[in-house]
Amino acid sequence: MTEPLEGRPLRVALTFDAEHPDRPHAPGVPEGILGVLGDRHVPATWFLQGRWVEAFPELARQVVADGHLVGNHSFYHARLPLLTDDGLRTDIRESERVIGETTGIDARPWFRCPFSAGSDDPRVLGILDELGYRNVGSDVVLEDWEPARTGPLLAADALRETPLVGDGAVVLFHAWPPGTLDALPAIVDGLRDLGVAFVRIDALERFAGPAAAAPPATEHLADATERPAR
Ligand SMILES: [Zn+2]
Repeated sequence: MTEPLEGRPLRVALTFDAEHPDRPHAPGVPEGILGVLGDRHVPATWFLQGRWVEAFPELARQVVADGHLVGNHSFYHARLPLLTDDGLRTDIRESERVIGETTGIDARPWFRCPFSAGSDDPRVLGILDELGYRNVGSDVVLEDWEPARTGPLLAADALRETPLVGDGAVVLFHAWPPGTLDALPAIVDGLRDLGVAFVRIDALERFAGPAAAAPPATEHLADATERPAR
């Protein structure tokens, strides 16, 4: 068993990528996730795809109203290295515009690359920096986009892997898999039993300061994030 840190809680940032899924999914999952987070008073970070915000403006506003931090997850959810420089700027700004007009929130400086593609590409990261963004990676990747990853499996892995990362762990979820919704109450309650305090990304020192100074969450795991499988 992992013991809570002496003297202060172990901080964990739960993050949810909200996008149009290209896998089987059920309606109501994002609403359910917001409900679990709200009932348990868990602040989180949501990376919103521009087209998702266009399709679900009320949900996007609910994310903000519930006190979660909002980041930009691109407009088309393409693999960013495939886009030209101008294509990147257009895609990122279009998502920023839709998020801003829909929710009133400026998503800068928070960004997450779709499929994690581009998170180690100097050209992509340079344009993100130019536009006022930093890419937020992840430490714990549960592969919740895989249909075989049921709630009990996700919960067991999250409770085992997250404490191993230590203080400031960033956990990647998606806002649409039914297994994620199923697992979330057990994950929140179980981590709290281990002494965890949930925080938004903007509470973590390693993401503070100028965008250019912020390192990826963890470079060694970034490649594993959102493999082409989903
Ligand atoms: Zn995504």
